[in-house]
Amino acid sequence: MATAYIGLGSNIGDRKKNIEDAINLIEITPDIKIIKKSSLYITEPIGYVGQDCFLNSVIEVITKLSPDELLHRCQAIEDKMGRVRTMFWGPRIIDLDILLFGDEIVEDDKLIIPHPLMHNRRFVLIPLVEIAPDIMHPKLNKTASELLHQLKDGHKVEKYERK
Ligand code: ATP
Ligand code: CA
Ligand code: CA
Repeated sequence: MATAYIGLGSNIGDRKKNIEDAINLIEITPDIKIIKKSSLYITEPIGYVGQDCFLNSVIEVITKLSPDELLHRCQAIEDKMGRVRTMFWGPRIIDLDILLFGDEIVEDDKLIIPHPLMHNRRFVLIPLVEIAPDIMHPKLNKTASELLHQLKDGHKVEKYERK
């Protein structure tokens, strides 16, 4: 069994519902058990500007799947939810990224773990620190909260207030 962290993001349609639907689909996936869920955070878009804000969240799961199999399950959920792959970093109904997978380091064509940009992204580190402040980044040998504290960019990430 491995403990993995998955980052979720949505910036089209009912973004809160999209994240909740994705979490529900993960929950009913055999061999993946959700242990913790962060709050939802609202994040200014990066990359292509002129699109809506993102809602982001991070979940902790335990799984006996391999990293590859976990990626395939995540992509199947993205497809099922109707994600259309248009422009890179463009708008999306749902985006599921594997952030960490135990202390494994994976670097192949289709999968890089730890996620190569996680340590630069406030919208990943803030929810990750909420649920797992002491989790180690196996390449940088720093905890999630150390990575967050050393982050310099001023990208705005705020807790999403439930209405
Ligand atoms: P970013 O990775 O910068 O957040 P993105 O999420 O918009 O960008 P996608 O279009 O969702 O990128 O994914 C492109 C490809 O990234 C996927 O087809 C997948 O094979 C690959 N990939 C590599 N590492 C990971 C990972 N850790 N989690 C999810 N996908 C990954
Ligand atoms: Ca992503
Ligand atoms: Ca992705």
